[in-house]
Amino acid sequence: MTSTIDPKAIGKPVSRARRHVRTLTGYLPETDESGKEKWPRGDEKTWKENMRALETDVPGISRNIVNHVQTSLARQAYNLDDLGAYQAAALSVRDNLILNWNDTQLQYTRKEPKRAYYLSLEFLMGRALDNALLNLDLKKQYSESTDKLGFNMEDLLEQERDAALGNGGLGRLAACYLDSSASMELPVWGYGLRYKYGIFQQLISPEGQQLEAPDPWLENQNPWELPRLDVQYDVRFYGSADRLNDGTPRAVWSGGQEVVAQAYDVMIPGCFTKSTNNLRLWESKPKRGFDLNSFNAGDYERAVESSNSASAITSVLYPNDHTTFGKELRLKQQYFWTAASLADMIRRFKNIGKPITQFPEYVAIQLNDTHPTMAIPELMRILVDEEDVPWDTAWQITTNTFFYTNHTVLPEALEKWPVPLMQHLLPRHLQIIYDINMYFLQAVEKKFPGDRERLARMSLIEEGFPQQIRMAFLACIGSRKVNGVAELHSELVKTTILKDFVEFEGAGKFSNVTNGITPRRWLDQCNPELSALISKSLNVPKQVWLKDLFMLKKLLPLAEDAAFRKEWAEIKQRNKERLAHHVRTTLGLEINTNAMFDVQIKRLHEYKRQSLNILGVIHRYLTLKDMSAEERKKVNPRVVFFAAKAAPGYWIAKLIIRLIVNVARILNADPETKDYLQLYFLPDYSVSLAEVLIPASDISQHISTAGTEASGTSNMKFCLNGGLLLGTVDGANIEIGEEVGESNVFFFGYLTPEVEQVRYNNIYHPRPVEEKSPALARVLSVVSQGMFGDGGIYEPFLNTIRQGDYYLIADDFDSYINALKMVDDAYLDKEEWIKKSIRTACTMGKFSSDRAIMEYAESYWNLEPVKIPA
Ligand SMILES: *Cc1c(COP(=O)(O)O)cnc(C)c1O
Repeated sequence: MTSTIDPKAIGKPVSRARRHVRTLTGYLPETDESGKEKWPRGDEKTWKENMRALETDVPGISRNIVNHVQTSLARQAYNLDDLGAYQAAALSVRDNLILNWNDTQLQYTRKEPKRAYYLSLEFLMGRALDNALLNLDLKKQYSESTDKLGFNMEDLLEQERDAALGNGGLGRLAACYLDSSASMELPVWGYGLRYKYGIFQQLISPEGQQLEAPDPWLENQNPWELPRLDVQYDVRFYGSADRLNDGTPRAVWSGGQEVVAQAYDVMIPGCFTKSTNNLRLWESKPKRGFDLNSFNAGDYERAVESSNSASAITSVLYPNDHTTFGKELRLKQQYFWTAASLADMIRRFKNIGKPITQFPEYVAIQLNDTHPTMAIPELMRILVDEEDVPWDTAWQITTNTFFYTNHTVLPEALEKWPVPLMQHLLPRHLQIIYDINMYFLQAVEKKFPGDRERLARMSLIEEGFPQQIRMAFLACIGSRKVNGVAELHSELVKTTILKDFVEFEGAGKFSNVTNGITPRRWLDQCNPELSALISKSLNVPKQVWLKDLFMLKKLLPLAEDAAFRKEWAEIKQRNKERLAHHVRTTLGLEINTNAMFDVQIKRLHEYKRQSLNILGVIHRYLTLKDMSAEERKKVNPRVVFFAAKAAPGYWIAKLIIRLIVNVARILNADPETKDYLQLYFLPDYSVSLAEVLIPASDISQHISTAGTEASGTSNMKFCLNGGLLLGTVDGANIEIGEEVGESNVFFFGYLTPEVEQVRYNNIYHPRPVEEKSPALARVLSVVSQGMFGDGGIYEPFLNTIRQGDYYLIADDFDSYINALKMVDDAYLDKEEWIKKSIRTACTMGKFSSDRAIMEYAESYWNLEPVKIPA
């Protein structure tokens, strides 16, 4: 290989050497003889006030906004649009966040507390401005200020694009946990990737097909991120790994490709506290802007190509939820992110000057699903190869540092990486994984001598062509504790996929942390009127109850208060009108706001059974058509909403969207039924759309096949906003039922222990749909016969029900229709319905993500809150 640069060449490439850090003299206060601080310029203000120029009154806020318009944006005050005004307002809010962030981080550095790091490949943050204003308690002042400046705050909020760096529940959970960590004053940072393109934008073609468009969310610049040009790490791929064979387990990994990880920081404000945490996102860049090797050889094109391939790593979020495809670029993303994050944590740890054996006393790392599992062999590599730590000590450090959250027991979602791919991309890590596996299987063999089947079942390497690495097993044995995300799911983890590991390591390592949601975004922000009613009725400021959600229980007696019920119902009605207004202005559709609003919004997946819902809607339509006009007049009108993205390669899911859209077209145009049944598929589901839909719902559907939905979190969001729950006995639905009382929820369907037998029968003793459910058979036949357009299109979907019916659509159908009828009947008694709504919202204390994050902090990470002095 020729040398990269001729040493005689004139000029040098720019180095990324450490900068020389000094104190900003002349700005810090002088002290007088007694040690008291004097402001150097004889100003009356204290130096602290000067350093932290928080503008919190309306004139100050206005000055700050105008200043940003004229300087940061370089725009004229008389030539400003909503986007510009939003950006200036956002930058001025950011000023406040930066000051709090600096104080928080300084305090962490001084106090050297144990820190926790939340590693998640997805952070589904949504919008930041409203959230920051509410958490800083500056919403009123900012609204007044923008009003005075001639702009409407609600319009400005609409200018912000969602930060949609996630697919669904897993990414949104990470976002809720960041909010709760900052609000509970815990020293927690998030680590993720700064995708150039977030989850795709969904468009619906005239035929009802989902189309995908890229999400250029950074297009208008992102005022919420700070590039940290001084925080960069090199990450290696490919090359070769040579063991030293010097009596140590060390090896040298060299050659291959090096890519730069560049940090971007996003500030996470706590609610009514100075505590402001950090979400650090990595961007991949080519090491020197272009590949000098190729450049010197005069091959400019190849140089550019190589620089493209480095940038490609963080260019796009993989749009699959609950399925894996084993693509090389995905493994590159995973390693790039975990390697940069660990390098960053180790640098920070070394700054406090403790021996490396104390790493787990200062650092806890939570793995959000198996996506960051490469952090386990990476930490081993750093300890063994770079820090010269003996293998057993390194393994002790590692297994005391990591914690693993499992998110699913669905087989298609369990990550496995082909051994040849790992060998090619990360040769040293494959060696380490083999060594971990060898020592692990030796220990298993010792406990269960001669049990070869057990060894094969538990091996990190699954036999086959090719062999595959089982990431859930690696995450499990490399972690201090393992948890599922709801009671039922955590039981299933212990009795199915990790059963052997429970037998080997003991049940104590495995437990449950039921998911939660932040009541700031999912009540105070999305439903301000309800939040205000709660504060008024509790007679405490929201500052108190938003951080102690169990307080809502005190409102339970008000379910019997007619005046309170009236206010409660009026707020629900206004939220329905807000949704109708949103749909009118965005889609031009007119919605009947006197109807019951029935909502199912979540990723489109067969296990979540939007299929069951749409087939139920068709059944309702057929029932209405069978009625006389007189009979129909007694029917309670219903509007059914769907919103859901399907993974671009998930054909059956896309077919279900197509069916929903085409059923909507027929129903909404049928003069006989449209006053009683309307159906809408709202395109491009997102956090911001959820914030409009959820407060407007009377009933929401969480109807996964029992045993398939690990937790669900949108169920919690709806219930917190007084929407009742229709669902299966699955995931967190069960715990919601326990909290709100069985009389306030609508459950149906086969139970988890029965599902296996039903599935077995569906394959080995199949019964025709006509026999299982004549009602469903009729629905399938009208679809097939073309009531909603060419029936042939839908055959592949209908066949999943006729044959095998893995998700128990036919088995659960009659029970589902019966539950829908119970909902209808309950809705007839309006006062009783409102009581149920109140009781539901007021017993949701358990589902605050504050409760969940405190469980992680106390029972997993051993983390203490850190007070940030005012
Ligand atoms: C809460 C949330 C989810 C998760 O919904 P589930 O019903 O739990 O699957 C997905 N997407 C968005 C935008 C959310 O806000």
